Amino acid sequence: MTNNHNDHKNPTERGVTIWFTGLSGAGKSTISEKLEAHLRTAGKKVEVLDGDVVRTNLSKGLGFSKEDRDTNIRRIGFVSKLLTRNGVAVLVAAISPYRDVRDEVRQSIGDFVEIYVHCPIEELTRRDVKGLYAKALRGELPNFTGVSDPYEEPLHPEVTVHTDSESVDESVAKVIAKLEEMGYLASKKAAAGARR
Ligand code: ADP
Repeated sequence: MTNNHNDHKNPTERGVTIWFTGLSGAGKSTISEKLEAHLRTAGKKVEVLDGDVVRTNLSKGLGFSKEDRDTNIRRIGFVSKLLTRNGVAVLVAAISPYRDVRDEVRQSIGDFVEIYVHCPIEELTRRDVKGLYAKALRGELPNFTGVSDPYEEPLHPEVTVHTDSESVDESVAKVIAKLEEMGYLASKKAAAGARR
């Protein structure tokens, strides 16, 4: 049993936190933006909590020590919990490198789907979306996750997407399929079957 009252609702009305974790540039924001559009079209209420945006307001002033990172994640988790219990699909795109605090947030929210956005460091260095890997690899960025700061992979994520070998649409489709399977999104296949 989960710790909220979402269970009996139809898929469109069920709140859920969809938590994207992975290194900078792996594809968390890109996938969550596409998923956001899909969920809205499907009639769900949606809110996006993007790590970069959160750090300019809700978590302004926090740094990148383990303590500050954990505080940032607990704040995002708290807001996600409030929204989730009110029937919102919350998309969180945050590096969230520490397993223990991710698991803490999972326990607290209950309706929680963890997506591991995986991409090898070689490909991230090649992409270098924000020019940060080059800097970090030159030793100019302390506390840069994956280079000069730890990243703890999820042990049991609901979905793993491999963004070095999948297209954005393929990665989004994997998440959608899992949400349908878990009853957070009406299944197109089931709907088509019912109409027949
Ligand atoms: P993050 O939010 O994890 O820091 P971004 O979404 O900002 O990462 O950047 C990811 C980059 O990788 C984008 O330029 C995107 O076009 C590219 N990319 C390539 N394949 C994928 C995929 N399957 N999923 C997501 N992004 C992908």
